[in-house]
Amino acid sequence: MTKAPLLLRQSPSACTSNAPFSVTIIGGGFSGAAAIIALGRRCPGPLSMEVIEPRQMLGQGLAYGEATSGERLNSRAKDLSLVPENPRDFVDWLTDHHSDDTAPTGFDFARRADYGRYVTERLSECLAKRPELQLRHHRDEAEKIHRDASGRFTVGVENGRSITADAVVLATGYGCRQASRYGLPAFREIPPERFSRMHRVTLVGTGLTMVDTLFRLRNQGFEGQVTLISRHGQLPRPHTETPSRHCPQWPQAWPESAGDMLRLVRTLSQRAEAEGADWQSVFQALRPLTSRLWRELDIGERRRFQRHLATRYGCYRYRLPPAHARRLQAELDSGRTRLARGRILASDSGQLTVHWHDTNRTSHWPSDLVIDCSGHRPALDTPLLRSLVAAGLARHDALGQGLSVSESGALFQGNDLPSRRLYALGPLGHGSLLEITGAAEIFQQAQAMADELSVAYAATTMTTETRALDAR
Ligand SMILES: Cc1cc2nc3c(=O)[nH]c(=O)nc-3n(C[C@H](O)[C@H](O)[C@H](O)COP(=O)(O)OP(=O)(O)OC[C@H]3O[C@@H](n4cnc5c(N)ncnc54)[C@H](O)[C@@H]3O)c2cc1C
Repeated sequence: MTKAPLLLRQSPSACTSNAPFSVTIIGGGFSGAAAIIALGRRCPGPLSMEVIEPRQMLGQGLAYGEATSGERLNSRAKDLSLVPENPRDFVDWLTDHHSDDTAPTGFDFARRADYGRYVTERLSECLAKRPELQLRHHRDEAEKIHRDASGRFTVGVENGRSITADAVVLATGYGCRQASRYGLPAFREIPPERFSRMHRVTLVGTGLTMVDTLFRLRNQGFEGQVTLISRHGQLPRPHTETPSRHCPQWPQAWPESAGDMLRLVRTLSQRAEAEGADWQSVFQALRPLTSRLWRELDIGERRRFQRHLATRYGCYRYRLPPAHARRLQAELDSGRTRLARGRILASDSGQLTVHWHDTNRTSHWPSDLVIDCSGHRPALDTPLLRSLVAAGLARHDALGQGLSVSESGALFQGNDLPSRRLYALGPLGHGSLLEITGAAEIFQQAQAMADELSVAYAATTMTTETRALDAR
């Protein structure tokens, strides 16, 4: 399917507006789009939004912009609405647009590229409905940010220009460029002529990115041997065909340690299965509570979770659509794809040195191609984020995985108070909130951010109106 062009009111050369309140949104992927939609709904009058995003399309980012036609979402369509009053909005959209033989039910795992189109379409509609929303898309990379004495922000972009705003929303997600530690980054296009010369491909990492990459290779016609390497050799578990209605009985007192959390989830999963439901329902029910539970753990326990449980948790939390799980199993059963436990000690021009856990030996592992599927994490070492931290406008979270944020994404600065004008949405908050990379959680966070910013918006617009009356 082709991408619908996003109709925006753009004038990239002009950076001033007559709207009384302006927000600069850095990053125009899913989080940036969620921010625009949420602000558009919460700020009732004129509002100027400057979006800085090098990609042409807004609303797509890494997850949906890089998707080919075959890749599926790992969330059910019914959970991905961008219209809070209509939780089936994405299902309805799919019903209107689907080209498959079967009509969407809501339990299905739609194509990622279709979700990208849906996001972009809802974003366009939100702007079309509200002419008093001004949105300019600057196809640049933001490089620095500072706050002046009056409290306004200035964001510097690549070509030396700058954009000022009353508030800033960082939505930079996984960054502008995909870095890789081993070989080629996942999702990088592989020229078809290279396939004919390849016999052995190694994928490092065994999560959802690996599954996408493996299927993409096969769909492109690669017939050779694929080796999957990760430290634990754990694969993502499957979703059920349809979700069960089981509601776990939460305890009176929440766990205070990573170990207690593990025991609780294990007990509830066993109980669910004993009652004829499935363990997946426990993980699903846990999702809206995870951030609160996570923030109640002290830092030592969060580190312990990260060290000992994060990989296992990821396998159960980030699940595969059942059809993908079956296809992966068939790959492994056929012997064309092999799973190995090992730690990469060195990577040199695609040649890996691996310590194999099963044999306790170290050896070189030659491949025709190595692809890094070890997962996406926010790039913190960018000029933009460095300038933000250096200016005291943000600080890293205690695990060093992102920025320290509240549930609404408000940035914690030097003191312990969250900012009321500076936010970071989505994956940048992973270390602070744990459960904040899924589209549903990001959209919810964007709405909480917009609720808070609408207070600053109301205060500023009221002051502007009072000044205008005084001047008469
Ligand atoms: C492959 C993949 C599949 C996923 N599938 C699902 C799914 O099925 N279901 C689900 O719920 N979630 C899924 N997710 C998770 C989720 O939807 C993502 O976490 C979400 O897309 C994050 O969006 P983002 O906008 O924060 O980040 P990104 O998608 O990384 O977008 C960030 C944007 O910011 C821009 N940018 C970065 N730095 C700058 C800068 N300095 N200046 C200007 N622009 C900048 C980049 O160009 C980019 O477009 C998936 C994630 C990935 C990676």
